[in-house]
Amino acid sequence: MVKIGLEIHGYLLTNEKLFCRCKSEHGLKHSKPNTNICPICTGQPGSKPQLPNKEAIDKIIQTALILGCKINQKLIWQRKHYNWPDLPKGFQNTISGPYAVPVGQKGKFLGIRIRESHLEEDPAAWNPKTGEIDYNRSGSPLIEIVTEPDFKNSEEVIDWLKQLIATLGYIKTIDKKSGIKADVNVSIKNSERAEIKNINSLSNIKAAIEYEIKRQEKELPIKQETRMFDEKQGITIRMRTKEQAEDYRFISEPDLPVIKLDKKRINKLKSQLPETPQEKLKKLIKKHKIDKKSAEILTKKLEIAEFFEEVIKKITPKLAIPWTTTELLSVLNYNKKELDEVDIKPEHFIELLKLVENKTITELKAKEILRSWKEKSSSPKKESEKHSTISEKSEIEKLAKKVIKENPKAVEDYKSGKENALHFLIGQVMKLSNKRADFKTAREILENLLQQS
Ligand SMILES: [Zn+2]
Repeated sequence: MVKIGLEIHGYLLTNEKLFCRCKSEHGLKHSKPNTNICPICTGQPGSKPQLPNKEAIDKIIQTALILGCKINQKLIWQRKHYNWPDLPKGFQNTISGPYAVPVGQKGKFLGIRIRESHLEEDPAAWNPKTGEIDYNRSGSPLIEIVTEPDFKNSEEVIDWLKQLIATLGYIKTIDKKSGIKADVNVSIKNSERAEIKNINSLSNIKAAIEYEIKRQEKELPIKQETRMFDEKQGITIRMRTKEQAEDYRFISEPDLPVIKLDKKRINKLKSQLPETPQEKLKKLIKKHKIDKKSAEILTKKLEIAEFFEEVIKKITPKLAIPWTTTELLSVLNYNKKELDEVDIKPEHFIELLKLVENKTITELKAKEILRSWKEKSSSPKKESEKHSTISEKSEIEKLAKKVIKENPKAVEDYKSGKENALHFLIGQVMKLSNKRADFKTAREILENLLQQS
């Protein structure tokens, strides 16, 4: 039987680092190396940590709560020692390790047991090729979530991780844009487990698990060991036999006070938790009668879900769904933007859909207006006045006659049974009308005229 467990690392979404007031910086934001630093996060001799960032403590508690964990009320910082160029002090401050009390433990999230979740500081970034070290991210708060070995295959792992990332993104505790890293442990048939360290994307996590299961089946019995994933070859490689916890020489941190959490603070943080994607999905399906598939697309990202909820206050879901899940999302995808990176206002979107609903403008024109909202939206009413739909039959008929006269080849093709020719002719009518002709009417009129001619 296959057993898979995860140790997941992500960046907490905070403004400042853990023990100094430097900006917490990671993921896509890149400052010039070593510009976002101070004596504390570069571990200069004599420097001592400031009191831990309250925002980080609050967010780790909220994360543990959403994972169903019991919160421990007395937390002690530990020094975890190791020698590596990315660690200027020679130790990492962490609330983890064999003698530590984790922030949260014994939780359960979507059917998978959570062993514990804790908080630690990020080391610097070391480039082994050049030997250069960038301390910008040194001291940023990291969250670590450890699951029990409850997964049975790679698909289960990936589905669960996607939901986890979406949920923690919803409650704004992790920086989902900087991604996650995971250590994955795999064992089969009750053999010892192999741990694959530091895998940095969902697709690599999937590939590493699948490779590792096949390898273990071939090489039974397995010894406990640490491996790494080679992305290029798609294989796992042995690094060392598993290090024991003692190797890190954990001691409790003398420069930081014990964190005492009272029930009141924990309850307050609990009451401030926003809806999870699972709750939002349920609400869209039950309360607003949205079909499951659309609801799943809408709830993938919080900003899209909230935008949609705003829109359906004024627009029927039937119209709002395709315009959000297909049109809006494809415009964002095309511009490689997230909704929270652009300034598209729900009220402008609502106005646009009202114009479509009332047939003041054609769908084609509305799409064009939507496409013009690359950075920000503007009121579509003014724009639409120039482009109101021509639904007047006589006017469209004039255009259609002109198109038929000017395109004898397409007319002949149509008569000999080529359906595509009709699409071409409709396209010409739309073009002549500057996309203002009502599509359906144009089609009807063209078909009629073609049959008569
Ligand atoms: Zn600093």
